[in-house]
Amino acid sequence: MPTANRSANCSNNPSHRQRQVLSLLTFPSPVCQFLWRKEGAKVRMAILALCLFVSAFGHTQSEAPVPTRLLVLDKTFNLPILWLPDEPYAPVGDWLTALKIRWVAQGSGLALKLPYQTAFLWTTTSAKVIVNGREMEVAPLLRRGEDWWLPLVSLARLLRLLAVVNPEKRMVKLAALLQSVAVKQVALGWQVSLTFSYRLPTPPKVGTLREPDRVYADFVGAALQDITLPSLPDGSPLSKMRLGQFSNEPLILRFVAETTSPLQISVVGSEIGDEGDERWHLLLFSSEQREQWLGQIRLQENISTRAIFRFWGRFEEKPTVRYEGTTLSILLPSAPLLPLDNASFTDEGLVREARVEGQGTAARLVVTLLKPAQAHWEKREQGVELVIETPFVRPRRVRLIVVDAGHGGKDPGAMSPSQPSLLEKHLTLDIAFRLKRLLEQGGYQVLLTRTDDTYLPLPDRVAIANNAGADAFVSIHLNAFPQPGGQWGTEVYYWTLQSLPLAESIYRHLLTLLGRKGNGIRQRQLYVIRHTFMPSVLVEPCYLNHPEEEALLRQEWFRERIALAIFWGIAEFFGDLPTLQKQGE
Ligand SMILES: [Zn+2]
Repeated sequence: MPTANRSANCSNNPSHRQRQVLSLLTFPSPVCQFLWRKEGAKVRMAILALCLFVSAFGHTQSEAPVPTRLLVLDKTFNLPILWLPDEPYAPVGDWLTALKIRWVAQGSGLALKLPYQTAFLWTTTSAKVIVNGREMEVAPLLRRGEDWWLPLVSLARLLRLLAVVNPEKRMVKLAALLQSVAVKQVALGWQVSLTFSYRLPTPPKVGTLREPDRVYADFVGAALQDITLPSLPDGSPLSKMRLGQFSNEPLILRFVAETTSPLQISVVGSEIGDEGDERWHLLLFSSEQREQWLGQIRLQENISTRAIFRFWGRFEEKPTVRYEGTTLSILLPSAPLLPLDNASFTDEGLVREARVEGQGTAARLVVTLLKPAQAHWEKREQGVELVIETPFVRPRRVRLIVVDAGHGGKDPGAMSPSQPSLLEKHLTLDIAFRLKRLLEQGGYQVLLTRTDDTYLPLPDRVAIANNAGADAFVSIHLNAFPQPGGQWGTEVYYWTLQSLPLAESIYRHLLTLLGRKGNGIRQRQLYVIRHTFMPSVLVEPCYLNHPEEEALLRQEWFRERIALAIFWGIAEFFGDLPTLQKQGE
């Protein structure tokens, strides 16, 4: 039986255990050179230590030699790795998301949810976790202060990945391992299937070469281990198969098949196994074969506003889509070679149901949608994608709000009668900063006319808003009555008609949140709201020289509430309230 090519310089007189270890490192020459020459002794020792570690576990689990798995993801993580004698530790952080691992909870340990596997608890003392009913030994977690640290090699082992650590650069790379290769004859030609220990980051790239005739497939993020290639079936047009580590940066594993006549190669699609392993299917077929075929249909995205179906295979033209209310029916050139993959199916998604009807050349995909939507085709390297989107979805535009803190500097504005005296100019700036923060959290851009206690003439305030092309202008003031205590409550001022709806929504939210007396929305020719081009209002949430309202204004929570009411008023005016409330849930 042919086996994967290997270079000789990696296997020099190993002991039994070393042989296990070295089998891990039995890459074709590019990787070997990388591991053994380029990076020097430190990397070599680190990798050797990792391999010993992995190998040692392989022996504890079973008597028979366990095929040790290298892992691959071809993603380099920059981590502040904590070095301990046994293995490097990395902090629990965003890089887990890149591995599609979810940190579920935190108690005496860390509850991690692995892709395709059950969640498990990993503690600072236990050296065993149970994954899919199997007990596995792992190094314990570390906890230093508030920070959690994960042992990298143990994590990689749980994921069936190989961690290649570069201690000098403090980086780690993870890779998936080729586990098996299978060949079988199908109606349309020959199907070659390659199984990897982990889901690869991208589909393989395929192509043909001449003299001799051969086809190849490149798998990014995959590494080679010592596996046995299947024998070639009688009468097949394949004369030889080879595997090699085509590139190390990025990691690319190349499959090559020499053929007795020119063949085409195409990607049929992939299947995910129970443990998260991934099997990619390739179709090798004669160049003369003109029959249309379809490899696989996969629902690969399904959210409430958009769904994407991926169609692997050959199309002479784009399949026709027919609309019948919320049902789409897509005429297919033939029945798919692999079953419909509904991996992304969810109850909340736009696609409620999808099935393939018919056989041979009369097949069609029938899709039931949650609500009416439009579909269009997008060409991909292998096949096409059908993108289905609901019509009225548009992302919220980033709006610019100019917030004007009234008065400032030599102009203190109103003043409270009791000591220590509150100045309007200080309170308006305080509220302006609070409003700015809330608006920015809500996704708005904010410009303040002043950010400290300086005097700013009214025309300058207007110019800031007009020159910036603001979408709204809000001037913040606090009221005063000639006789202290003589008047109280909330007022909002506007001048132009376009400003009235903004004044109304801010006024309504101020009354709701502050609970003060409503003195009305008033149309008044105040300078800053008369000369600004955009919807502009001036708010007077309450009276600074009314004893009760003065006491309230001394409270931080009350000033925060004023800012919040103005924020909700702006959001409602722009129609952003439903989105923001949804985000806040
Ligand atoms: Zn004022």
